[in-house]
Amino acid sequence: MGPFLPVAEGVWRAVAMPDAVTIGLVAGSEGALVVDTGSHPDQGREILAAAQAVAGVPVRHVVVTHAHRDHLFGLAAFDGIESLGHDTISERLTTSDTLAEAAALGVATDHLRAPSIGFSLARTRDLGGLRVEIVHLGRGHTEGDLVVILPERGVIFVGDLVESAGPPAFGPDCDLGEWAKTLDSLIGLVPPDGIVVVGHGEPVNREFVQDQWARIGALYSQVAQFSDRGIPVEDALAKGSWLLPDEVVTAVLPLAYAQWAAKRRVRPPRQLPLLGHGG
Ligand SMILES: [Zn+2]
Repeated sequence: MGPFLPVAEGVWRAVAMPDAVTIGLVAGSEGALVVDTGSHPDQGREILAAAQAVAGVPVRHVVVTHAHRDHLFGLAAFDGIESLGHDTISERLTTSDTLAEAAALGVATDHLRAPSIGFSLARTRDLGGLRVEIVHLGRGHTEGDLVVILPERGVIFVGDLVESAGPPAFGPDCDLGEWAKTLDSLIGLVPPDGIVVVGHGEPVNREFVQDQWARIGALYSQVAQFSDRGIPVEDALAKGSWLLPDEVVTAVLPLAYAQWAAKRRVRPPRQLPLLGHGG
């Protein structure tokens, strides 16, 4: 793990391998809060020790931004410290995908932890002269992404809702239809000169988030149009104008078509004629 680098007063970030995930640290006068835990309990212990040394106050809280290995698997190192995460994480921990990833990283099943406090909307914590808001703005990169907002510092940790090291990570558990809406809510929370600390890559500004919102929104709305016009998924790359690299679009198109089709099934279009015969 790399050193904690300053982001703002009482706010730091570090990078943990192998996934180059961002680890956040926030310190008030009485306590500190860590954002994300690394991909193994040993790494979690390293993060906790480094955070304690840099913050100079006890680490009292840890937030897991979402249920992916590099953010979650270090959590066992924080036993005895309040941990906060979306309430879907505990269920996610029992899936075969998660268990296979844990095995591959050498994390024993009994070292996997769900956060001690699971919630679906928001929590606030006071670190001593520094207020922290932990909020689920909606589905996006996963079903349970959290953002950590420091209103007095103009800093927001956003997990993998936004990445700057590469294009957005469209995994099988993302929600393409909701992601842009969630980013729209996020944009409203970022001050003009605010700092957005992303899950992978250098921190970004509000314009970067707006740009990513546009790219994801355009992808999904184009897929919806194509699907409704009967354009098959195999032809979509060539027929569309996408704001993302071809290989990313190629990989995500089947998922996008499937998610749009599922949404259409949930809310079918109204049948014509709208008025009955003789009405
Ligand atoms: Zn992720």
